[in-house]
Amino acid sequence: MVSRVIPVDAFDLVLFGATGDLARRKIWPGLFHRFLAGQFNNDSRILGVSRSELSREEFQDKVRAALEPIEESEHDCVERFLSQVDYISIDATGDRGWKPLAKAIRPDVIRAFYLSVAPSFFGPIAARLKQSGIATDDSRIVVEKPFGNDLKSARALNAELRTYFQEHQIYRIDHYLGKETVQNLMALRFANSLFEPLWNSSHIDHVQITVAESLSVDGRGEYYDQSGAMRDMVQNHLMQLLCLTAMEPPSQFTPNAVRNEKLKVIEALKEVPIDDIARGQYRAAGEQGSYREHAGNPNSITESFVAMKVDVANWRWAGTPFYLRTGKCLRERLSEIAVYFRNPPHMIFPGIDTPHGNVLVIRLQPDEGMTLHTTIKDPGPGGMRLTEASLDMTFADSLKDSEKPQDAYERLIMDVIRGDQTLFMRGDEVEAAWAWADPIIASWTDRPIKPQQYDVGSAGPEDALLLMHKDGRRWRTIGQ
Ligand code: NAP
Repeated sequence: MVSRVIPVDAFDLVLFGATGDLARRKIWPGLFHRFLAGQFNNDSRILGVSRSELSREEFQDKVRAALEPIEESEHDCVERFLSQVDYISIDATGDRGWKPLAKAIRPDVIRAFYLSVAPSFFGPIAARLKQSGIATDDSRIVVEKPFGNDLKSARALNAELRTYFQEHQIYRIDHYLGKETVQNLMALRFANSLFEPLWNSSHIDHVQITVAESLSVDGRGEYYDQSGAMRDMVQNHLMQLLCLTAMEPPSQFTPNAVRNEKLKVIEALKEVPIDDIARGQYRAAGEQGSYREHAGNPNSITESFVAMKVDVANWRWAGTPFYLRTGKCLRERLSEIAVYFRNPPHMIFPGIDTPHGNVLVIRLQPDEGMTLHTTIKDPGPGGMRLTEASLDMTFADSLKDSEKPQDAYERLIMDVIRGDQTLFMRGDEVEAAWAWADPIIASWTDRPIKPQQYDVGSAGPEDALLLMHKDGRRWRTIGQ
């Protein structure tokens, strides 16, 4: 498989929060990989911005450290990359540093402002960029999650950003959308004639969307306790995966056509009855503290796990539930969408049950790829026995002769420079997702219900199993 790197036009990318955790773990390595791949040339620059007063050299040392480990052959490239990196210390809420930024930014290249800072800075930075003339009408502004913590705050944030930037300039990141598999899901559905005729409730029994994490919230428990799995994962990442699985084919692959279809899915979601939701909190195990210890809140009723059955009330999906589940401290780190096709209407092999129906599994992590589980004859003598065979498409295997798969952040940052908003959330989508999530969250706070405890390294609380069991279905296994 040949990979094509299409170079982007020259840019000035101003990265606010350039010394932060996200920049160190994702953004700097991502930019460096794109530089190595030849996607941007010597005319482009990255201006790191944060509050600390650092010299250019001190800052570049931080960036160099973020790129470790570097292969021997890449040392020269790191220095060439760093020669395009500069630093300005700016106080986002004060006057310091804005004039130097206005002077440094160039008039004749693409301008992008990436706000990898706390959401409370989004408004003040946007205002300052616009009022000082640093941001022009074709500049781009990128904002990180979380985008609000309920409908009211998301609306306020949208209104604030739109005071200074137009919607076509605003890039709201959900890094799940930048994953190779997510785009492949669209290719699979809309560039093949095999699946789309079957992609409806007549042929699909149900869909399971799982985002399981093996790590605890230790270290960020206080922050997490204000949010919980519903706000942190379901309202954004799982919602986006649901939308891409359930949406109608857009008329064209353009940002607004795709996002219009995603919005229609969110608007078609039924209110979720409380009985169709399971919530959990992990308990202590050996050295590992409990959720409540990590959150520093012995009475916390915030969920570190949530599973629910969601109905999409439209012609295509009536009668086909979507089961969502996500949690911390589970057996394995795993994100996948599993599409369960209905069994054949009539079994012609007497005395033999179909051992496994057809299941299409779209894996986001680890090992991005897809597997189609099929039923075949068990090879060899001994009469007619059926067994399962899997058609496996692991993307890393297909790419090994060309280049490593891109991290989601690499792809998304280059999309910002290209001006392509397809893989970014539009303001109305975010608001619709909060409008759906808010009543669910309110039902837990209005009538406080303790989440059920579950073991570290398990698949979640008992209630999640029962949620499936009462429908005569089973979750896919997490881990071995
Ligand atoms: P962080 O490690 O706390 O870094 C915050 C950054 O903001 C630092 O560079 C800091 O500069 C800068 N900053 C703070 N106050 C400032 C001010 N008054 N003026 C200018 N700069 C200021 O945060 P983070 O984890 O990187 O997260 C950044 C954003 O990404 C947040 O919105 C977060 O929710 C989101 N996010 C993070 C992750 C993640 O894995 N970390 C994942 C998804 C989304 P100094 O170092 O100089 O103080």
